This record gives sequence, C-alpha cells and structure tokens, in this order.
Amino acid sequence: MPLFDNVQYIKSVGPKVARLLKRLDIETVSDLFYHIPARYIDRRSISQIKDLVVDTSAVVIGEVFTCGFAWLGRKRHKIFEIILKDETGSISLKWFNFYPGIEQRFKKGDRLLVAGVVSEFRDTKQFIHPEVDILESGAEEELDTTSDVGGRIIPVYPLTQGLTQRQMRKILRNAWDRYSGEIEEELPDEVTKKLGLVKKIDALASLHFPESSADIELLNLKKTEAHKRLIFEEFFLLEAALHMRRQITKSASGIAFNWRDELTQRFISLLNFELTTAQKRVVEEIKGDMTKSIPMQRLIQGDVGSGKTVVAAIASIQVANNGYQVAIMAPTEILAEQHFKNLSPHLEKMGISSTFLSSSIKGHERDKIYEAIKSGETKCIFGTHALIQEGVRFKRLGLVVIDEQHRFGVEQKTMLYQKGEELPDLIVMTATPIPRTLAMAFYGDLDISKIDEMPRGRLPIITKIYYESQRERLYAGMRKELEKGHQMYVVYPLIEESEKIDMKNATEMYQVLKGVFAPRFNVALLHGRMKGEEKEAIMAAFKAAEIQILVATSVVEVGIDVPNATVMIIEHAERFGLSQLHQLRGRVGRGNLQSYCILMAPNRASEEAMRRLKIIAETTDGFKIAEEDLKIRGPGEFLGTRQSGLPEFKVADILRDADILEVAKDMAFKLDVDKYPALKKEIESRWGDKILLSLG
Ligand code: ADP
Ligand code: MG
Repeated sequence: MPLFDNVQYIKSVGPKVARLLKRLDIETVSDLFYHIPARYIDRRSISQIKDLVVDTSAVVIGEVFTCGFAWLGRKRHKIFEIILKDETGSISLKWFNFYPGIEQRFKKGDRLLVAGVVSEFRDTKQFIHPEVDILESGAEEELDTTSDVGGRIIPVYPLTQGLTQRQMRKILRNAWDRYSGEIEEELPDEVTKKLGLVKKIDALASLHFPESSADIELLNLKKTEAHKRLIFEEFFLLEAALHMRRQITKSASGIAFNWRDELTQRFISLLNFELTTAQKRVVEEIKGDMTKSIPMQRLIQGDVGSGKTVVAAIASIQVANNGYQVAIMAPTEILAEQHFKNLSPHLEKMGISSTFLSSSIKGHERDKIYEAIKSGETKCIFGTHALIQEGVRFKRLGLVVIDEQHRFGVEQKTMLYQKGEELPDLIVMTATPIPRTLAMAFYGDLDISKIDEMPRGRLPIITKIYYESQRERLYAGMRKELEKGHQMYVVYPLIEESEKIDMKNATEMYQVLKGVFAPRFNVALLHGRMKGEEKEAIMAAFKAAEIQILVATSVVEVGIDVPNATVMIIEHAERFGLSQLHQLRGRVGRGNLQSYCILMAPNRASEEAMRRLKIIAETTDGFKIAEEDLKIRGPGEFLGTRQSGLPEFKVADILRDADILEVAKDMAFKLDVDKYPALKKEIESRWGDKILLSLG
C-alpha cells in the first residue's frame, strides 16, 4: 500500500528530516496525513499591539523584551511573565500555572507568535496563559507568503526541534500531490451515510489545506465536520477491533465448568462473614459465564475494600474442583503474597493446594514449584509477573485472575494466554473505578460486573483537611486513637529530601514522630528503597500490631489489609492525584472501627489544590472521584499511560468526545467486520499487533 510508504519517498524528505519526523511518530505517508494541525492562524487578523481590545481574542507578533518570574499580590504568588513588544506598543504575557523550566524556553529577543484573549490589569493589557510559538528567523516572511498553502488560514503543526512550520507544510503539500489519490474510504457506506460523516479524503484535505472561508473558531476548537469524521474514525476502528477480539474469544473453545453451589457455600462458611448482595450478584454473573463453553472475559470493578478478592476466590475453587488451575496475579509481591496468605488456609481446608511464586524465589526451590505447576499438582498459583515469565508451564490453566488490572500491559496478558491450550477464563479486577467512557474505550470487549456495595457494618471514613499550623492538634488526635489500641499510617509523597522542593520527607518525619510517640508506641519507617525482606518484615510486624505508626511512602497504596488501622494521615496531600488519595484512604475503614483520613495541606495551598482536597473530603464515591481525576489528569496519566496499553488517540479526546465514542461503540459492535475487507485491513494495520495479537 503506497500510503504505508516510508516518508522518505516524499519529495523534500531526506534521511535527516525522516529522523525528525520519526520523533513525532511519523514514519509513513499515512502517519503524516494523520498529523493534524494543533491549531490555525488567521493571516487576515494579526493585530498590532496598540489596537488590541480587551475581551477579544487576538494574534500578535512581537519580540521578548523581558522574561522571568514575578511575585503577585499580597500572597506573593509566583508567576512567569514576558513583556512582548512590537513597533506599536507592549503587552504582558502571564502564566500562573507553568511547568518547571519554562524560563529556559524563552530569551530576550525571541520573536513570538502569541494567541489569546486580551485582558487588562491596572491599565496594562495582558494575555493570561496565551498560546505561544517561537518563530524561527525568517518565519515572518513565511507567514506572509501564503502561496505554499494556497489560503490565508495557516495550519500550525505540532513540531519537534529542527523542523519548521514552513517545512512541515511543504512536506504535506508534496505528500498530498503524490499520494492523496491513494486514500481509501475504509468506513462502511452505511455508517458514513447514517451519521452524515464527510469522506476521509475531504476531511484530511480541509484540515491540512483549509479554505479561506473556513471557520477558524471551529477549526481551533477541533470541532469541524472534518474533525468529527476523524474522531469518529479513531473510536470506531478501536471499537471495531475490540468487537473483533471479543468475537474471536467467543468463538474460541473455552471450558464449560461444572459449578457446584455447595462448594461456594462451604467456602463462605469458612469465612466469618456473609457475602454482600453485590458480591452474590457478581458471583452469579461469573457462574453464568463459567458454566458456558464461551471463554469468560469479565472485569470486576469495585471500590477498595468492597470484597473483590473473595469473589475471585469462589471462582478459583470451582475451577480447581474441575481439575483445572488458576493463576492469580497482582502488581506487587506484597499484594500477591497477601492474597496468598489470606486465601491459602481457606483453600487448603477445601483440599486445594496453592503456591506463591515470586522473582525472589530461586534455584532448587523454584524448580520444585515449577514442577508442581507443570504436573498439575498445584491448583492455585499466586504471584506477580514472575507467573508469566518463561519457564512456567501450566498443566491445565482454567482461569486467570488479574488484580489491579491497569498496571499490567496488554503484552503481558498476551503471554499468559499462550501458556494454556484451551482459552482460559479471565477475571480482571480493578479498584480504580474507571469512568464509563474510559471503560468503554479500554475494556469495550469485557463484560463488566460491579461490586457497588460495601460489606455491612462498615462506618464511612471521616475525612478532614488539616493545615500545617494545626499539627499539634493532629498529634493530640493521633494519641487518642493510639490509646484505644488502634494503628495508623502516615504517608509521604517522597522518600528523600529534594533540594528543589522544600518538603519534609518521610525519614525526617519518622524521627519527629518517634520523638513524640515513642517509646510508648512503636513507630516504623517503610520506603521504596528498602530491600524486599526488610519491607516484608515491617509489614508483617504492622499486621501483627507490633508497630502502631507506620510512616511510609506511597508503597502502602496497593492492597495491604490491616483492619485495626484506623487513621490514614497523608502528608502533602496536595501532591497526590485524586485517585491515589482515594486508594490510600481505602487502607483504613476495613473493619468495623470508625476510621479517619487526614489530609495535611500547607498553610498556603493553592486554590486549585484545595479544590481537589475538598473533592476527597466531601465524597467517598470512587466513581465520582475517578471522573474528577480523569478531568484533571487526562486519560493517559490516569491509567498510567504506556503501561496501560491505552491507545493514544491523534485527534479524539475521550473526555471531550465522549458522545461520539458512544455512537462509535454502538455501531461497531453491531457490525460484522468480516463483511468489510477495507475496514478489516485498516483495523489490522492500526491495531493488529496491539489488540488482535493478544489472542494469538
Ligand atoms: P478489595 O480487594 O475489593 O479491596 P478485599 O477482597 O481485600 O477487598 O476485602 C477487604 C476486606 O473485607 C477483607 O478483609 C475481606 O476479608 C473483607 N470482606 C470481604 N467481603 C466481606 C463481606 N461480605 N463482609 C465482611 N467483610 C468482608
Ligand atoms: Mg484487592
């Protein structure tokens, strides 16, 4: 396919430029066509600074006169400011929020192209958080010559150092002249017609070479018909791929387990509680799947502490009873081992042998475990990634349970599938409640079960924001809880003092707390740099209530379960993400005791930080928090970007375009992809190795 020609075939692209393009993930002509302008400049309207009118958007070109940090207001808020000049006057550009190192990006004399909304402060015109491009020398003539784009609306592309806008536009022009004839419409007619979508070739043409009459506002908001078409296409191709994957798993031969309710009953009677209604419902859903020969692919969502593990254990027992094996994977050794320690005694009573495999188990001992797995003697295997490393051979793998899913990459899941002969059932558990839209994009091929109810008797955790100045009061409160025999966590975002950020670190605080509470109460420190055994020993001591105050970096974030711990103190809470705070809070309130979460904030926290802390203080609904978090951080970071296997969209934005995503999913899941060769080819070329391969 010529569209998949390397960009080097394009006139004006040599090896050097090709290397630069590669940095932008552009390797083929098709990649180049999908490199959509970030925004557009209307050549008709570059203003002179003297003519700027408050409350209107404007574009100006000028020279940096001064740039650097400044302090504003009585609170001495640190801002970054540039004074920009043209022949007619000057204007101030201000940033209240900025990334570190912003000062290195600009220097006196740089020529900038600035777009934003004009405002006024003490009689001086200003742009707050404008969009800024540094113009290469000679770029202004470039802006004046419109001949290379044939219009007066000029696209501005995302670039990398060494490439200029002008070059980019020329490359696109050349590529278009030579290759646009090859662009095929891959969306089925019935889809484009039904939704009134513009053709792909027209969409691309109007984005790269906009007509003079185009609506610049819509272009810059990415809301033209052309954008909508490409957004739909991105979502649709992903959803169609997920649909295909689902079809493949459905047609693969799975295992129809024989499910015995009395085994479930016996297991539950070993625990000292009843299942919640939600747990019972999810067990039924799993039973429904597992007794069919269609492989199960189910995601269990449930807040921290909602009791997902028990549900997975019930499924495991049934699998073992059928003579099959279960692999239970967790993202950390601590968590995997905790699952093992919690469940193996119960499993043993049911006559099911289990084992724990970790990368720290080596040599003869490991060989023995491998052998027991291979022979089928061991039925439940708990572990981390070690489980899917070479060397582990299962006799008959019947079920895979993945806890805290989003930390596993798609590739890792893939490897696991290849271990079994029949396609094992899959349960994915996540305590990060994933907003519906994201779940749809990412888990479109999984059936979703929700445990939306907490075990009975749980008291809602009381969450409070404390300022640094209230530290003495905090200690008094801590003492009261300690006197009751309860335990607590004090969590820090960092482990070592950073010179840049003035922050008390865990080590220092550990000393302070020892001074306040020892020897009456035992204080211990736990951080990421400690050796595995050392960590395990401390965790064990905390579980055994030999330690009352555990000062830790966020290592306790995932999974440890100590019902007697009733207080979670989060230092510098403003530095944690919302979902992370919610996860941390979930470490307490795991028994029937009233629990507390204290969010420590600096005396002068920013408004934005306080707004976020208030969200946590006011709601315990994990889904609401996740929605907010997603808004603040964006999908990539929310899920842990690359690791998550979340596809990166070029034009679409899951949040902004959620409505389009819904339509795309709906249509894609109704379609028989096999009937549309062009569509299938496109899906395979886009997602082939990422999605379809995972079923081998
Ligand atoms: P999750 O994995 O969803 O965070 P767990 O499965 O670890 O939650 O359960 C949290 C705690 O609650 C565990 O100590 C578990 O034994 C307990 N638990 C689970 N289900 C129930 C229930 N129905 N009633 C009482 N306690 C429960
Ligand atoms: Mg869990």
